[in-house]
Amino acid sequence: MSAIDDLFSRLSRSPFRQKFHLGHGEYAYCAEKGEEKISAHAADFVRDRLSAAQPANDGKQTPMRGHPVFIAQHATATCCRGCLSKWHHIPLHQPLTAEQQAWIVTVILHWLRLEMQRPQPPARKGKKKALDDNQLSLL
Ligand SMILES: [Zn+2]
Repeated sequence: MSAIDDLFSRLSRSPFRQKFHLGHGEYAYCAEKGEEKISAHAADFVRDRLSAAQPANDGKQTPMRGHPVFIAQHATATCCRGCLSKWHHIPLHQPLTAEQQAWIVTVILHWLRLEMQRPQPPARKGKKKALDDNQLSLL
């Protein structure tokens, strides 16, 4: 079994991880931006929010909504160094290597590809919209 199949099989047994799905707006955002752009965003988030030996606010640095990559991170246990240590055996208190960062981006993209094979969820009335480009530029 490949490493990624093994990981996704373990994730499939976690009711907490299985709760996460793209919302209407996040799904639309993914479809509109395409895989290359989303992958670049994922690489930026991983570098900026996770790669330091002691990331700021570790455990709280990944919002629960807004960008499809954030949802993918919670779903794949790549949201914080604690989860990366527990699920991916990536040691705490050390900067992430280029290989570790590439693995995390691969995992995020794999989850997003699976998620985009599902039908787009309906828009929820009265709920906050997903981030638009103006808000994203502030991230
Ligand atoms: Zn976490």
